[in-house]
Amino acid sequence: MSVAESRPPVRAGCGWDIHRLVAGRPLRLGGVTIPWPSGLLGHSDGDVVLHALCDALLGAVGAGDIGTHFPDTDAAYEGIDSAILVERVVLLVRQRGHQVGNVDVTILAEQPRLGPVLPLMRGRLAALLEIDAERVSLKAKTMEGLGAIGRGEAIAASVVAIVVAT
Ligand code: MG
Repeated sequence: MSVAESRPPVRAGCGWDIHRLVAGRPLRLGGVTIPWPSGLLGHSDGDVVLHALCDALLGAVGAGDIGTHFPDTDAAYEGIDSAILVERVVLLVRQRGHQVGNVDVTILAEQPRLGPVLPLMRGRLAALLEIDAERVSLKAKTMEGLGAIGRGEAIAASVVAIVVAT
């Protein structure tokens, strides 16, 4: 098989994550801090958007998942800014011969209402991915009061990422 055949020009990956909301932690979401009385519990900063983004990008290049690259049993990642993990994953995507094409992010959160912070988050994600903001799509939805997310006990995110061969 030739190199061109073994490296498809366009590849897609999807990622999903959920973290519990607990009182007294800063709410980090999409690489920004949102003023809110509760935040996402996690070994790292708990940023579900960035974790789902890492998994989508890793999936797109067939490089495993966030847990194998940055295990939560490793003290090195305790309280880490998940933006650092995204930067490492973007580097890995490049090393695998691809660049980020576009990402489509859906956040599931009953509260806080995220509409006002989405433009800031979009810019932050674009900077982390080193792509134009036009290539970053962000949507926030509620769960209509249903389930753990609907009760405000957790926030989840799903991401589809496209990478393009360089
Ligand atoms: Mg996570």
